[in-house]
Amino acid sequence: MSNILKTRKKGNLIVISGPSGAGKGTIIKSLLSSVEGVWLSISMTSREMRKGDIPDVSYYFVSKEEFEDRIEKGIFLEYATYNGNYYGTPKDKIVEKLNAGFDVILEIEIQGALKVKELIPDAIFIFIMPPSMRELRKRLVNRGTDSADKILSRFRRAYQEINEVTKYNYVVINDEVEHAVSKVQAILLSERCRVDRIEEVYLNNEEEEIHELLVDKELNNEERVI
Ligand code: 5GP
Repeated sequence: MSNILKTRKKGNLIVISGPSGAGKGTIIKSLLSSVEGVWLSISMTSREMRKGDIPDVSYYFVSKEEFEDRIEKGIFLEYATYNGNYYGTPKDKIVEKLNAGFDVILEIEIQGALKVKELIPDAIFIFIMPPSMRELRKRLVNRGTDSADKILSRFRRAYQEINEVTKYNYVVINDEVEHAVSKVQAILLSERCRVDRIEEVYLNNEEEEIHELLVDKELNNEERVI
């Protein structure tokens, strides 16, 4: 806790989007282990589990009916359909984590990101861009987790998503993963230093007295030198 400033304790809400295959997952994983005070929201989805998915870690996997039941109950901050499946952000833990001072990351596609922008305009929106269409296609194919038609559908959607980049605050091109991670780290750390996070400046009490004292001391020293 600083003696000079009281800053908002509440963390920032960070929305990260980008086409499937842009490398969002890898970047976020690296961010979680390198920047303190960051928490990744776990989404709920009705899509089938893929190779490498861990239930309740990658997603909360539910059936389509269960998802629709949760929509009715109003548990989502936002939800969207993507490739014929539902994906949604449960809101309960997000508020809790933000209030506890964590920066909360939502890794969501663009329709969801735009809904969040309407609800929480001061959230921070970061778009992860692949270096080229060829490279994106290569990454989708090499991932080896989807059928050929799913890959094609993800690739088609990538084009539409890239066109929406100007709706975000930041864009990071993921050509080299370490460079992309450094850039996202820099964004998170800079956002924590924004002056609009200041609630109060304490220059009227103890700090002012200390300041006076230090000025006096300096003057006395100067006199002595002279
Ligand atoms: P995947 O099937 O590859 O895990 O995810 C497909 C897309 O859904 C990705 O672009 C991912 O960012 C997005 N997504 C994951 N969780 C959510 C969510 O809770 N809400 C929305 N709107 N999109 C999500």
